[in-house]
Amino acid sequence: MFPDRIRALKAYKTETSEAKIRLSSNELPYDFPKHLKENAFKKAFEGPLNLYPDPNARELKEAVSDFFQIPEENLLLGNGSDEIIYYISIAVGDPKEGILFPEPTFPMYRISAQVVGREAVGVPLKENFELDLERMLKEAKRCALAYFAYPNNPTANLFSKEAIRKIREKVKAVVIDEAYFHYSGETFQEDALSREDTLVLRTLSKIGLASLRVGILIAKTEIVRELEKVRLPFNLSTPSQKIASFLLREGKEFIEEAVKKVCAERDRLRAEMESIKGVEVFPSKANFLLFRTPVEAGVLHQELLKEGVLVRDVSYMEGLERCLRVSVGQPEENDAFLEALEKSLSRLL
Ligand code: PMP
Repeated sequence: MFPDRIRALKAYKTETSEAKIRLSSNELPYDFPKHLKENAFKKAFEGPLNLYPDPNARELKEAVSDFFQIPEENLLLGNGSDEIIYYISIAVGDPKEGILFPEPTFPMYRISAQVVGREAVGVPLKENFELDLERMLKEAKRCALAYFAYPNNPTANLFSKEAIRKIREKVKAVVIDEAYFHYSGETFQEDALSREDTLVLRTLSKIGLASLRVGILIAKTEIVRELEKVRLPFNLSTPSQKIASFLLREGKEFIEEAVKKVCAERDRLRAEMESIKGVEVFPSKANFLLFRTPVEAGVLHQELLKEGVLVRDVSYMEGLERCLRVSVGQPEENDAFLEALEKSLSRLL
């Protein structure tokens, strides 16, 4: 019943191990204050459970438009950006044309291409995690679409804008996935609003609302109009729409403050990790850090877990031997992680 391309897939795996301190999914480490949450849930309570949600998520779109300062007609909302990635991989270019992306990167670009039966063309990053421009330009010839996580997950760096624009000339469109935009401040937003070959993705998942599953596409109206034909009609639940629109308005200050705290902690955490013998930490423009140690990543991952700290083992990815990824947590969580790392390494080395 299932073709080989589906049989060959592995279900998307995420960290489910129990741990007191979870620094494995790049979420915002702060939850909204109780009074805001209570009022948001009251808002959600007004939404009838027996009726379908607003298929156009008008109230949420207006709130997203105000929050990001982007006209509503340039927005498409998805059940997380994951869902929008599927829509783009389905809709852009001919199914016979491939989908290009550097690797290692966010696995959903490859998965979505494979699910829809298109060639997934992954090009290894250079050792310094920059794009291999020459190879990407060559591979782009048989691709309609290219994905770039900007900053990239899990390497945490921003690729050269110039290189991305050169690759853009060879494909029908590039998708700039700005899931970590709030931590980098860098964007292709102007390109997305002025050119049909540039689509920008954002998400509310990294700024405190991962549970609600709200992803955002920023693109020219012509692009939004076509992708709207592919979008599932009721892809955002009423509670998600109500809670997200309330918190984007009433929780803006909280979000901004939390992001600031995370950026400051990111820099402190990196400096402290670097002072631990044997630890190499890569520069980060996101809310997580990629690091390498002399010991096997799987072993260190387990040792950290014994200390109650869960991080992500990314060492199975090409070029990331002995690497782990840690999300920036609250200061006390980061301290606990630092202590666990130091202890574990001193046991293992
Ligand atoms: N893009 C990138 C680069 C990511 O790292 C992630 C989540 N880890 C996503 C998209 C998924 O975002 P969402 O929760 O909106 O589906």
